[in-house]
Amino acid sequence: MARIFNFAAGPSTLPLTVLEKVQQEIVDYQGAGFSLIEASHRGPHYSEVHAAATAGLRKLLGLPENYHVLWLQGGATLQFSMVPLNLLAGGKPADYTLTGTWAKKAVADAKKIGKVNLVFDGTEAKFMTLPRAREVKTSPGAVFLHLTSNETIGGVQWQEWPAVDVPLVCDMSSDFLSRRIPLEKFGLIYAGAQKNLGPAGLAVVIIRDDVLARCSDDLTAYLSYKIHAAEDSLYNTPPVFPIWVSRLVLDYLNGNGGLPWVEKLAEDRSRLLYGMMDKHPDFYRCPVAAHCRSKMNVVWRLPSEDLEKQFIAEAKKAGMDGLKGHRSVGGCRASIYNAMPLEGAQALAGFMDEFARKHG
Ligand SMILES: *Cc1c(COP(=O)(O)O)cnc(C)c1O
Repeated sequence: MARIFNFAAGPSTLPLTVLEKVQQEIVDYQGAGFSLIEASHRGPHYSEVHAAATAGLRKLLGLPENYHVLWLQGGATLQFSMVPLNLLAGGKPADYTLTGTWAKKAVADAKKIGKVNLVFDGTEAKFMTLPRAREVKTSPGAVFLHLTSNETIGGVQWQEWPAVDVPLVCDMSSDFLSRRIPLEKFGLIYAGAQKNLGPAGLAVVIIRDDVLARCSDDLTAYLSYKIHAAEDSLYNTPPVFPIWVSRLVLDYLNGNGGLPWVEKLAEDRSRLLYGMMDKHPDFYRCPVAAHCRSKMNVVWRLPSEDLEKQFIAEAKKAGMDGLKGHRSVGGCRASIYNAMPLEGAQALAGFMDEFARKHG
């Protein structure tokens, strides 16, 4: 077996031990004589997995009782609609920060449903920077402030949280569970699973009691947070496979030292890559402002597009793939999510060093 270091932005690398466990259990789940993905979502085998996934997430985050965990389909993208449908019914306004490609999509959907004030617009700065936390001010009547904690394509990440008196609603898809966060500031957190948690086809929503209480009662069933919360995410068939794998990833994270451990790993991995840019400043250039460089999606440019192509091709030959920047921005990008071992970042940093010496 030859596994590469997979720097893809999502779906992305998963812990090897988790994949091996799934491989072991996929045909005959723990002696049941059938696969878990052939089992009823209301039967005992899946019920245990469902409860353990929720308990594992609660444990990892230290989630207080007044937060609900929802396991939903439709990815983070459906949350771009569900958030305003639930919270902006009747034309209530909300504040959004326009920080990159993903925030732009969240804003576009919210505008079709409710009133949106942009309290930050990074368009002119080409989304290469974020405001400082103290610069973010909410507008009168806003029911929440929406943030995208990490812009997966642009490579900017909030390193400090705005101090505002409305709940933060946050798309954490690409840095979910990668660091400790001040939970009390957040009224609602959502994340597509396929970057830091598990396979695609699953979104996690964490919603606080008081925010849930304010959600609309007039929505059709699947769109209603209240219904999913009341039914423990079993109103309909949940995405059993990605929830099963996510449960195993949560066990892996909890078993290895939890958020302090992954946070340190994220710092160590990203420091290796940014450090290599600092070492060769005439060769590698990071376009992102220093105070908001992402520890999950590290982006950089080389002196020419030809060199970038060569870099990506040679890295692939050396067992490192997924390093091409998003087609909308070009350049290089390394996605170094929770499951990327430190050795992956070390290998890439070593390759960067060598490539710069040869071509710089
Ligand atoms: C990937 C991503 C999304 C979209 O997630 P889907 O699950 O594909 O809908 C939204 N926001 C951010 C920050 C992302 O990285």
